Amino acid sequence: SSTTRLDRFISQNSIYSMSDTRLLVAQKRIIVDGDVAHSTHQKVTQFMHVELDGHSLQDNKPIYIMLNKPQGIVSATKDSKHTTVLDLIDHPQKDELHIVGRLDFNTTGLVLLTNDGAWSRQISLPETKLAKVYEVTLSKSVTEEYITVFKEGIYFRYEDITTKPAHLEIVSEYQARLSLVEGKYHQVKRMFGFFQNEVLALHRVSVGYLSVAGLERGQYREFSID
Ligand code: URA
Repeated sequence: SSTTRLDRFISQNSIYSMSDTRLLVAQKRIIVDGDVAHSTHQKVTQFMHVELDGHSLQDNKPIYIMLNKPQGIVSATKDSKHTTVLDLIDHPQKDELHIVGRLDFNTTGLVLLTNDGAWSRQISLPETKLAKVYEVTLSKSVTEEYITVFKEGIYFRYEDITTKPAHLEIVSEYQARLSLVEGKYHQVKRMFGFFQNEVLALHRVSVGYLSVAGLERGQYREFSID
């Protein structure tokens, strides 16, 4: 699924061995992404198109799916008791998919699924600083003080980290919109927990430029990244 060498790829995907590959290359019988292969050591990555004697050995397509997750759904690919986000997807290559950023059982909103590991690693890196925006419904009123505290960061003893500057917008007495650039375990709930303010409902609106707008709960759609 990731990167391999051409000779290893040939041995895994055809009747030829790694050592046969030298001859196949010399005879110009292998085509990689439209060009005649030039070396047994050249890299073959997940989404390249490889042909041997005119037959496709690999032609994977990257898949990107955004889902509006309903409540009571597990952000996992398998679960013995509950419905998973993958159970909501109907796609011929769904077995290849992994989840990019998990949401809690009762959290709703944007979940991304893909078979493109390079992309999901990239967008999950803290250095990428993608904004994740949440709509939060609270049990107690939210005050201006929260804005300062969330901007300065909250110390999480278990991980021994201070949360990165987060942007809070007060929407109404019990509703706020929080923008984070990271995703620690139960982060939103723990940040409001600092004020003993329980999160009653949590909905992820967007991750970077990807937004759940226009999707009903439980609906999903494929998108492309270029
Ligand atoms: N923060 C939480 O506490 N839960 C989520 O599901 C996402 C962010």
